[in-house]
Amino acid sequence: MVAFGDVVCNGCVACCRRENVLVSLQFGDDPGQFAIDREVRPGVFAVAAQPNGDCHYLDPKAGCTIYERRPAMCRSFDCRLEASRPTEERRELVQRGLVAADVMRAGRERFLKLSPPAQAALRHNYQKRARPS
Ligand code: SF4
Repeated sequence: MVAFGDVVCNGCVACCRRENVLVSLQFGDDPGQFAIDREVRPGVFAVAAQPNGDCHYLDPKAGCTIYERRPAMCRSFDCRLEASRPTEERRELVQRGLVAADVMRAGRERFLKLSPPAQAALRHNYQKRARPS
């Protein structure tokens, strides 16, 4: 189970500068509390984007304007996890559009600043999360 709200973020907001920020009934979000653009599949909704693609709730100077009540996706996303993968896997994720290049870059920078034991712990955590339950 993902522990929401415990991801350490450095506030770069790279992950807020993209479309497809999602809210999900499955993860306890209430779509009625967000500016929704569309339902992408049953129970999963895309948050509206600004004309430049930024999340509806991103203020370029102040950051997230709904930080205390941001969606589960935002509370649980750790850019360092995908960035801990081997080079070829990272490249493929970016090429397939599954992770934005700037988000991967930000995550990689943060991952490489961790000590080797902290990197190993993060990889271990990633494998636990990736395992089907
Ligand atoms: S809701 Fe907040 S944390 Fe989530 S993408 Fe939008 S601005 Fe970023």
